[in-house]
Amino acid sequence: MTISFDNSWVRDLPGTFLPVRPAPAPAPRLLVLNRALACEMGLDPVALEAGAADLFSGNRLPEGAEPVAQAYAGHQFGGFSPQLGDGRALLMGEVLAPDGRRWDIHLKGSGRTPFSRGGDGKAAVGPMLREYLMGEAMAALGIPTTRALAVVATGAPVLREVELPGAVLARVAASHIRVGTFQFFAARGDQAQLRRLADYTIARHFPEVAGAENPYVALFDHVIGRQARLIAQWMGVGFIHGVMNTDNMALSGETIDYGPCAFMEGYAPGTVFSSIDHGGRYAYGNQPLILGWNLARLAEALLPLFDADQDRAVDIANGLLEGIAARYRAEWVAVMRGKLGLAGAEESDGALADDLLAAMEGSGSGQGADWTLTFRRLAGAVGGEAGGIAPLFADATALRAWLPRWQARLAPDAADRIRAANPAVIPRNHKVEEALDAATMGDMAPFGALLAAVSEPFVEREAYMLPAPQGLGRHVTYCGT
Ligand code: AMP
Ligand code: MG
Ligand code: MG
Repeated sequence: MTISFDNSWVRDLPGTFLPVRPAPAPAPRLLVLNRALACEMGLDPVALEAGAADLFSGNRLPEGAEPVAQAYAGHQFGGFSPQLGDGRALLMGEVLAPDGRRWDIHLKGSGRTPFSRGGDGKAAVGPMLREYLMGEAMAALGIPTTRALAVVATGAPVLREVELPGAVLARVAASHIRVGTFQFFAARGDQAQLRRLADYTIARHFPEVAGAENPYVALFDHVIGRQARLIAQWMGVGFIHGVMNTDNMALSGETIDYGPCAFMEGYAPGTVFSSIDHGGRYAYGNQPLILGWNLARLAEALLPLFDADQDRAVDIANGLLEGIAARYRAEWVAVMRGKLGLAGAEESDGALADDLLAAMEGSGSGQGADWTLTFRRLAGAVGGEAGGIAPLFADATALRAWLPRWQARLAPDAADRIRAANPAVIPRNHKVEEALDAATMGDMAPFGALLAAVSEPFVEREAYMLPAPQGLGRHVTYCGT
């Protein structure tokens, strides 16, 4: 299997990474390979499969790979860490796909690096399969995301609270340039490197701004646009990232780092699944605020590039930051128009969407109406009957008042539009846990079936559509395993 690498990061940005070697895996075994993604990248899936266990465990470095650990900093839960970096991952190299797209191939869980600090550099089977599954679900939902090319079990144990089987995830991304990558060089006052990084980012992701009067300001403006759209898309499907630290926000506009993420079931803006998010900083309803907060940190890092006069630079940054809330709202309303199957665009559409959410949330008993099922079942209510929706609400009074207002705004083919915009299947927490628990015990069948279901989210598969039966307890997710 040959992979033709073209490693622009290593070539163009010396001083931003350290060379590393993946740790050998004693008994690598391929658990899952993403053949469709391999094809998109111009890789031969059959040849890839034959060598995948050795290749993606890091046991055999393909010709042309130049493995490095990338440096980055980041605000984690609001506190700044000047040096994080790839502590358990490495950039193997970049591949140019036949369609001209450039992809990073990353290995995650590939052993210690100079950035590992106290960590072991390893990852367990469950969390790596979770990242694979979530990325595929998001991709199938049409949301920009990094994706997994493969997961390989290493054959070595990983010590967490208990001993778990170890794994390596081969992750494919448009790039791994994070807000935290800029913060790393800004925090050191290294303006030359900051500028090289910005120029590289423009060339790789935003070539359209290269000719702008001030390309760095235009870069920031475009990053705001992509991130506002991304978070609006997350909100539309009920996705909770769970750890929106600045090192987990990619300039490319892809969703990155599937740690404690999960999909919300009953609608409640305060929903948090992560075991470490005690204050609810990254709760569902806070994500649009964190968008602005993280982008303010990016603006701070970019200030030296905005203008030689730092007072003017601050004014430029503030001008753009002040616009984020309205830009996000416009993206969100556009997402909601699609979900609601509305005809055209009217000023009052945002309020219409807000009022449905208020009805869902206010349905009492602490558990809001199921996010995914409510929107999906709207398709059956276009004709006037509350039908299958009302039972999702503990108290459907507000819903019944809302339905006629919505029906007055519907596009002629609304039912089809609603079914095309609202998934039937999301990775429901109890199904994800069931699949990962089985995989950890060596049975990959439930994972394969769930993966197939979330990969076609608009196809109705009864077994994957319903929330967990009552009484399973609150769902909790964990990072860093
Ligand atoms: P995350 O919470 O996944 O965004 O990771 C935050 C930082 O911790 C990054 O610098 C990671 O590389 C590092 N890290 C996470 N888990 C490990 C581990 N098991 N060993 C070493 N570094 C880790
Ligand atoms: Mg991370
Ligand atoms: Mg992580």
